[in-house]
Amino acid sequence: MLPLTEKDITTSFINASRSQVSDLSLPTDFDSLDWDNLDFLGWRDRKFPRRGYVFVQREDGPAGILLQQAEARPRARVLCSWCQDITLEDDVVFYGVRRAGKAGRNGNTIGTLVCADFGCSRNARKLPAVAYLGFDVEAARDKQVSTLQERVQRFVLEVHTGE
Ligand SMILES: [Zn+2]
Repeated sequence: MLPLTEKDITTSFINASRSQVSDLSLPTDFDSLDWDNLDFLGWRDRKFPRRGYVFVQREDGPAGILLQQAEARPRARVLCSWCQDITLEDDVVFYGVRRAGKAGRNGNTIGTLVCADFGCSRNARKLPAVAYLGFDVEAARDKQVSTLQERVQRFVLEVHTGE
């Protein structure tokens, strides 16, 4: 993705209050992020352990959402709804997200099961297992990456439009 500046982050939230934005901590590795290998920027706030942030680049510029991890943990092993990584190295947790605008002010939220530390870009870049003779693992990996991008974009849009 295109790199984000600190200003992009503090000015591009679609569902966070002003005080939430002013309290946020940037990722600790913000200055050394490998943007070329990120489909979105996601991190957990080191001061608010249950709070996470996800940013994507859209045609009209960056957009960010604030996510709140639910108290309850999924009971069984579940797949991340974004990367659907089946090797399950990452913890997958339930995040609730307040919708943008009026819907959000009325308490309307949506939820999603996502890798707790948002490692989806890394997961999607792993080479898949060879499914059959002649299986094109590189093409399959490209597909994993583009599918991840679509899913995250769609989720952010859903938070934004309330649809
Ligand atoms: Zn994931």
